[in-house]
Order: sequence, then structure tokens, then C-alpha cells
Amino acid sequence: MFDAIVLEKDSGGATQAAISHLDTKRLPPGNVTVRVEFSTINYKDALAITGKAPVVRKFPMVPGIDFAGVVEHSDDERFRPGDAVILNGWGVGETHWGGLSQRVRVNGDWLVPLPAGMSARQAMSIGTAGYTAMLCVNALERHGLRPDSGDVLVTGANGGVGTIAIALLAQRGYTVTASTGRLAESTYLTALGAARVIDRATLSQAGKPLQKECWAGAVDCVGSHTLANVCASMKYRGLVAACGLAQGIDFPASVAPFILRGVTLLGIDSVYAPRAERVEAWERLAKELPVSVLAANTTEISLAQACAAAADLISGKIRGRLVVNVGG
Ligand code: NDP
Repeated sequence: MFDAIVLEKDSGGATQAAISHLDTKRLPPGNVTVRVEFSTINYKDALAITGKAPVVRKFPMVPGIDFAGVVEHSDDERFRPGDAVILNGWGVGETHWGGLSQRVRVNGDWLVPLPAGMSARQAMSIGTAGYTAMLCVNALERHGLRPDSGDVLVTGANGGVGTIAIALLAQRGYTVTASTGRLAESTYLTALGAARVIDRATLSQAGKPLQKECWAGAVDCVGSHTLANVCASMKYRGLVAACGLAQGIDFPASVAPFILRGVTLLGIDSVYAPRAERVEAWERLAKELPVSVLAANTTEISLAQACAAAADLISGKIRGRLVVNVGG
């Protein structure tokens, strides 16, 4: 038996979330069973738990798009009982029972080894947000960005992706500008490694198709007008990694930056990223992300506190990362 958060739809169509005590026989099909140690509350999980957006379409569902734990049973020759593993994405917590649970059963193809020197708690403190930040930095560098290329902009700077992106870029020697709506957090952003902090209002309204050339690279967590303005203010041959939609899913831009300045827009998807890129990202996170960044950024809660925390996250009351000790 194990405990998990289970989402059900009531007769009025509203999502109900509660902890249930379940038999392992109810776990979905898969060739690896994992005893989960830590999961997190990502924005997507909060949407699923509160029912604020149709993240989950199949009920009952166990939410939790990521987890770290220890293999308990495996029919996959790559994993043995006792192996420490991480999972991000693959529809887990959306279409397949997820990580806000003491046990999960998944496809071994979805698992990556926990890197040496990283704890399960640290992995979930990084979470899908930090792993996505690493995918952004890897994509920019794969396309040629180097610290001497010029300044790099990070939008949505105080968010989960933004904070880790700043820390990773600064650690590698980039000069980072952080764009935020929370200028009161400038000291925190500077401590993470930002050389400069700008007000996100300078980027959030409709702007000219081509603007002053400022950035050699950018990590954009925001989308909409912000992403359009970021593209318009890239240097010649600048590189933009687009991963988020905090301002909006729209992209009200022109092709001018692409056809006149050779700007490249790189799409970042963490959910179905190939396994080799995941393993590379997690290995780099273990080597390059200072642990002090995580300590300052993380609040630990229990499975019993997760539903209330999801509502707080949606109301904008949470700063940094929420790590869930599922007590498996
Ligand atoms: P958070 O909610 O932690 O942070 C988002 C940040 O965006 C906020 O902290 C805020 O930063 C900024 N922001 C919020 N609302 C607005 C707005 N209206 N206009 C401009 N900026 C705004 O989210 P994450 O960092 O975890 O994720 C960032 C984005 O990336 C999200 O949209 C998320 O859905 C997406 N995502 C995508 C993934 C992928 O696979 N592509 C994986 C993970 C996340 P500040 O306070 O500094 O202004």
C-alpha cells in the first residue's frame, strides 16, 4: 500500500484533490517501479491540482510531473533495485500517474540516473524548472553562444527557470541581465549572478520590429510581447531560447530580426526532450549549479501540505521552489 494525491472529477465537473491510501496493484502499466523520495509542485502541477486549467484529461489521476527516488522493481536491464533515478515530463502527472505519490510505475525509457553527488532532494529542488533552464543554456551553447559573444538576457528572472538560468550562465562566465517585475528582489538576483537587473515593463508592451542591438543571447520564460521585443533587440546573429509563456502564449512579432539580423529562435521543450539531452543536462547541473543557489530557493513540504500549497502557488504567494517530501 502507498499514499498518493488522487485527482477526481465531481458530478459538477470540478476537480477534487485528496490523499488516498492505494494498493500497488492499482499502479499503471510500466516496467520499472520506483519508491519516490521527493517530488515538487510545478506551475503545471498546481493547475492540475486546483483544476484551473485542463492539464489532466483522464481521471482518476495522480499529479506530479517530476520525481526523484529509488528503483524498487525493474524489468528493464538498465535499472536495478536500489538505483537512484529522476523523471521529468513524458506526460507523467498528466496522462500517466505521477510523482506526488510514494510509488510510481513508469516506462524505463523515461528515467535518467541521479547524477553522482546529487541528492534526491537537491534534484527536486532543481526540478523541471532547473532542468529546463539547463536545456536552454545547452541549446544556446550548441548553437555557438560563448561568454565573449556578449550580454545575455533572462526574462521571468525571479521564476524557477529564470533563477537557475541566471546562476548557470553567471557560473560559466556570461554577463547576465535579469528582467523582472519584482525589482525589490534585485539583491537576490544579483547574488545569483546577474550583473544588471531591468524592469520587465520595458519589454512587456508592443514595440518596434527592430530595436537597439543589446543581447547576444537570451533565455525567455515569458513569451508574448516580451519575446517579440527580445527578438527585436538581439545583436546580429543573436540566439534566443524560448521556453515559457508567463505573459502569454501569443507571439506578436515580425520576421525582421530573423531575416535582417540572422537571429535564431530556439524552441525548448522539456517534456519529450530526447534521453541523451536529459542525461547531459542533469550531469551538467550536478557539476555546475552551486548548491547554495538551491538552499536559498527551496521550501520543503509534506504530501499532506501539497494541495494547499498548489492553491497558494496559483495565487502567487510562493517564492522559489516547493519540494515535496512524499515520505515513501
Ligand atoms: P514561475 O511561475 O516560477 O516564473 C515565471 C516568472 O515569469 C515569474 O516569476 C515572473 O518573473 C514572470 N512573469 C509572470 N507573469 C508575468 C507577466 N504577466 N509578464 C511578464 N513576466 C511575468 O514559472 P517557471 O519559471 O517554472 O516557468 C517559466 C515558464 O516556463 C512558464 O510559462 C512555464 O509554464 C514554462 N515552462 C516550460 C517548460 C518547457 O518544457 N518548455 C518547462 C518548465 C516551465 P518576475 O517576477 O521576475 O517578473
